[in-house]
Amino acid sequence: MNIEQQITSLRNELREHNYNYYVLDNPTISDFEFDQKLKQLQDLEKAHPEFHDPNSPTLRVGGEITKNFKTIPHTFRMYSLDNSYSKEDLEDWEKRIAKMVDGNVEFTCELKYDGASISLTYENGKLVKAVTRGDGFQGDDVTANVKTIRSVPLQLKGDYPSLFEIRGEIVLPFEGFTKMNAERVEAGEEPYRNPRNTASGSLKLQDSAEVAKRPLECLLYSLVGERLPIKTQFESLEKARLWGFKVPNEAKLAKSLDEVLTFINYWDIHRHELPYETDGVVVKVNNLQQQEELGYTAKSPRWAMAYKFKAEQVSTVLNQITYQVGRTGAITPVANLEAVELAGTIVKRASLHNADQIEKLDVREGDTVFVEKGGEIIPKIIGVDFTKRDPNSQSTQYIIECPECSTPLVRTEGEAQHYCPNTEGCPPQIIGRIQHFISRKAMDIEGLGGETVALLVNNGLINNYADLYLLKAEQIIPLERMAQKSAENIVNGIEASKQIPFERVLFGLGIRYVGETVAKKLTKHYKTIDALINASEADLVTVDEIGERIAQSVVSFFASEENLTTIERLKSYGVQLEISADELANQTDTLSGQIFVVSGVFTKVSRNELKKLIEDNGGKVSSAISSKTNFVVAGDNMGPSKRTKAENLGVAIISEDEFLEMINF
Ligand code: AMP
Ligand code: ZN
Repeated sequence: MNIEQQITSLRNELREHNYNYYVLDNPTISDFEFDQKLKQLQDLEKAHPEFHDPNSPTLRVGGEITKNFKTIPHTFRMYSLDNSYSKEDLEDWEKRIAKMVDGNVEFTCELKYDGASISLTYENGKLVKAVTRGDGFQGDDVTANVKTIRSVPLQLKGDYPSLFEIRGEIVLPFEGFTKMNAERVEAGEEPYRNPRNTASGSLKLQDSAEVAKRPLECLLYSLVGERLPIKTQFESLEKARLWGFKVPNEAKLAKSLDEVLTFINYWDIHRHELPYETDGVVVKVNNLQQQEELGYTAKSPRWAMAYKFKAEQVSTVLNQITYQVGRTGAITPVANLEAVELAGTIVKRASLHNADQIEKLDVREGDTVFVEKGGEIIPKIIGVDFTKRDPNSQSTQYIIECPECSTPLVRTEGEAQHYCPNTEGCPPQIIGRIQHFISRKAMDIEGLGGETVALLVNNGLINNYADLYLLKAEQIIPLERMAQKSAENIVNGIEASKQIPFERVLFGLGIRYVGETVAKKLTKHYKTIDALINASEADLVTVDEIGERIAQSVVSFFASEENLTTIERLKSYGVQLEISADELANQTDTLSGQIFVVSGVFTKVSRNELKKLIEDNGGKVSSAISSKTNFVVAGDNMGPSKRTKAENLGVAIISEDEFLEMINF
């Protein structure tokens, strides 16, 4: 096999594995083997840029930045759907259409996936365009972002038409959503409220590498095009599956409205077992000839009807409102309910979000409340059954002191949440911070778990994370359920954490809004904790992707004497608070003071590597061309508007090779 054949064969193989894993949920090789093959392909592609393919499986990781999404008109309008809410609505609809078409009418029943609609265009089996619905006539070009979604085929298989569009919904399955939220909470950020908004928000992220990290899926339901080789909606779903699309298997052909109702009744109950959110059923006339006869109204097809499930709702008694204190001191009010079954699970607690929400609903302890499970994972209280309210009940007074340490709470102008400002003395904050410090993505201290941290704090052995480094096995052994061996493991684990690189230490410090990615950016830019401590807000915001909110949080963290003392102590114990000599060896000041904009696709290094090279050599990467830009590094397919802008501003445009020469790469 020559190189080109090798590359082609690896691409085909990886595509197939991708398909098995993400579309069929049935992988046939291990993740490790997959990664090895991917690495092999990456190396070959890097060594042989002449075989570049914009749809190669190696490009799933993203890296393209879109500042302004281009508006593109839809070749075929994206209609909305009419809604129905009852059996009677559907019967009326059936009668209306029966009069308008010849012959017997059959239906395809599909689930109505709750996400962001998307239209994908394929030319000769390759994905060429992904556009959001927008207003139905035109939408945003989000191709770069959609390409990172693993269940979207970049290259089709089988007997596909040479040109067509396919429509579907981009969803964020519950499991991934929950995981993303756990990570956000870990970084001290507000969790996302629901999967649907998070999915549509993801499509508009500027950095496609960020989109690639989100566990999005694309579920398809409709083929659009001229003279497609299909006769029915059901057949189009089957065909799309064969070409490599993820088309959920729940869809059914119904020979009568009775069968449609059976489908609806079944899924009204069982939809909670699905891995993603649905908000109804879409019933479509199956025969495409009949669809054509029926046509469209001003805003929707006459041949389709959505049936909306009622959001499940129950009423129950609210026994008590309690308040939780998070690691960052944020207070969350929680409704403790009389246990009740809702959407297949037993619910005992519901979120009340914040003080405004409590006031808006006027909920009180002892009230009978309506609880709903909509898009949100955590059920929410949507109202009070005032007919059942005790006439003597008193309106809820939001707490003014921390339930854990009695410090008066504060609430910053414009923020919904109350905070306990006693960062140094409030037990859940103390424990939470240390738990975060030792967590897997931070210091990853083996042998030490969250409960042990609480035990150590409650026994007065530690009060902040620096204290960990003074712990001795003899102090730990006397604690509950501790033995010589486990105590030694803890001490050894703590010792080993002194090798953890600076970027993870920085994440572990628990600065609000400084999650894993931000910590990496800051580390790369400032290199040492001292440089970061001395950075002003104005300086911080010049770092790629660091906004005002993060900058403020960093500055205020280092403004605290206590934090500075803790950091001095960590330093004295040998914790890594600057990047290591090895990492530093690859870094120079060659590009110091120069601002770069990177545009297009590169062949010798990936876009991300290119940016890293700029930063490692002292340059700055900016996302938009301005008069301050010194160089635009232009790859293939650099946008014409960028080029014009650079030319007008007199900014030097250099090629990838010219850039690599600058740094003697
Ligand atoms: P609505 O936004 O309520 O007008 O509902 C129409 C939207 O439902 C469409 O734009 C699609 O994004 C979405 N949808 C979800 N599942 C389906 C499906 N199986 N068939 C058609 N549309 C669907
Ligand atoms: Zn407190």
